[in-house]
Amino acid sequence: MKAGIHPKYTEIDVRCACGATWKSFSTKDELHLDICNNCHPFYTGRQKLIDTEGRVERFTKRFGVQTTESRKAQTAANKAAKAPKKKAGATA
Ligand SMILES: [Zn+2]
Repeated sequence: MKAGIHPKYTEIDVRCACGATWKSFSTKDELHLDICNNCHPFYTGRQKLIDTEGRVERFTKRFGVQTTESRKAQTAANKAAKAPKKKAGATA
């Protein structure tokens, strides 16, 4: 290693927004994370909306709360509405 060109690489504290802390190595003094493997939905298997700017809230305010059931019902209704059109087009 060439002397005088490498930053200090030390053991530091990593802190997540969920409260989890652990040790790691970095050239920084400490790390602050928004999300980690303790709270990310991919690892927890729990469905959680990561909404930092209130986008989901704005969407639900505008279009109402969507559930899997309501979306399935909407898709079925759309299919039912489309079906006669196709038949009419085929016969004409
Ligand atoms: Zn976390």
